[in-house]
Amino acid sequence: MTARGCTNTPVLKERGQREVFCGLTGIIWLHRKMQDAFFLVVGSRTCAHLLQSAAGVMIFAEPRFGTAILEEKDLAGLADAQTEIDREVARLLARRPDIRQLFLVGSCPSEVIKLDLARAAERLSAEHAPHVRVLNYSGSGIETTFTQGEDACLAAMVPGLPQTEAKELLMVGALPDVVEDQALALLAAMGVGPVRCLPARRSADLPAVGPNTVVALTQPFLGDTHAALMRRGAQSLSAPFPFGEEGTTAWLQAIATEFSVSPEVFEAVTAAPRARARKAVAAQAQDLDGKSVFFFPDSQLEIPLARFLTRECGMTAIEVGTPYLHRELLASELELLEEGPVLSEGQDVDLQLDRVRTARPDLTVCGLGLANPLEAEGLATKWAIELVFTPVHFYEQAGDLAGLFARPLRRRNLLSGLAPRVEAAE
Ligand code: SF4
Repeated sequence: MTARGCTNTPVLKERGQREVFCGLTGIIWLHRKMQDAFFLVVGSRTCAHLLQSAAGVMIFAEPRFGTAILEEKDLAGLADAQTEIDREVARLLARRPDIRQLFLVGSCPSEVIKLDLARAAERLSAEHAPHVRVLNYSGSGIETTFTQGEDACLAAMVPGLPQTEAKELLMVGALPDVVEDQALALLAAMGVGPVRCLPARRSADLPAVGPNTVVALTQPFLGDTHAALMRRGAQSLSAPFPFGEEGTTAWLQAIATEFSVSPEVFEAVTAAPRARARKAVAAQAQDLDGKSVFFFPDSQLEIPLARFLTRECGMTAIEVGTPYLHRELLASELELLEEGPVLSEGQDVDLQLDRVRTARPDLTVCGLGLANPLEAEGLATKWAIELVFTPVHFYEQAGDLAGLFARPLRRRNLLSGLAPRVEAAE
């Protein structure tokens, strides 16, 4: 059998200095999604600052995340951190009866002092059950990238999910409610239902899992969650991810096939939104067509996005870097991504900077720390983190997704168009 696309492309594996955010970042979108959850980071003042600055303006009356700061005496082992966690949690839960799920989130400092948060979660769960479920996961920045925070959080929830024998679709990944509702409406129109979601908006709606659960991931970075669901006996759908018109259609088609939706019904449900998506992408693709793109490894969305930009927007990918290449989850994406770009996994940032400077792509997708220096060198950049903060999945967001990449190119055009006028005015 001939392999298609990039399935057999050799991967450049790099291990060196990396420029990525840590998994605590995921709390920013997870706390918005899970309306009765609280994320208690057990960390340092640095962790607290990261969260506070990344979260921006707090729009909730009461925040749904906080940091239990490890002071010097904790780090030096002079205080019993377990007792202090118990005290902080008791205080928090007494003040906030709305909390039904509490996540103790590990950080670099808590891992360095080997603070056993699993033990704390077990003890606190027993103490506060059944009103509150206490779980733990690591958001530490050691050897991780920022989207792993969501993966670790969802994976931590899987063992506690109830058991079911029902054949149900489980949509996995924390999508903005409005985007999730669009997907649920499309699936309902096809007659697929009931559909469960992980994470659920409220703990009362937590999904059940079993051997007839069909898992459809909406994000490519959920490898640990996927593995945990497979350990519960669930089945997995292999499909591209729902980015752009093509990815969304293929993702829905995989579900439609599994749930025996007729081609006529599929066509009737998807024809109009597909046409809207194609039109919206085409409008943005005018600025992307014929341009080159270079991905630094950051969000783990790089391969699906390269597939979208090359196949639907007319771009050429020079290098597609990803922190981890999960071949099983990305099999359909690799098949679709046309041969040509360098595929790289992991990072040695100096070597990669040399490559981007040589290639001088029209657009570089990278982390915040690299964007400004590269802009200063005359390269147009896109912050990878925006791709996780912005609604980009499914048909109605396909145009916005293309727009996220078109905007920096338009801005650069505008600035270069302005330059002669500024000179002329001087
Ligand atoms: S978890 Fe580690 S990398 Fe993340 S903010 Fe805290 S100290 Fe920094």
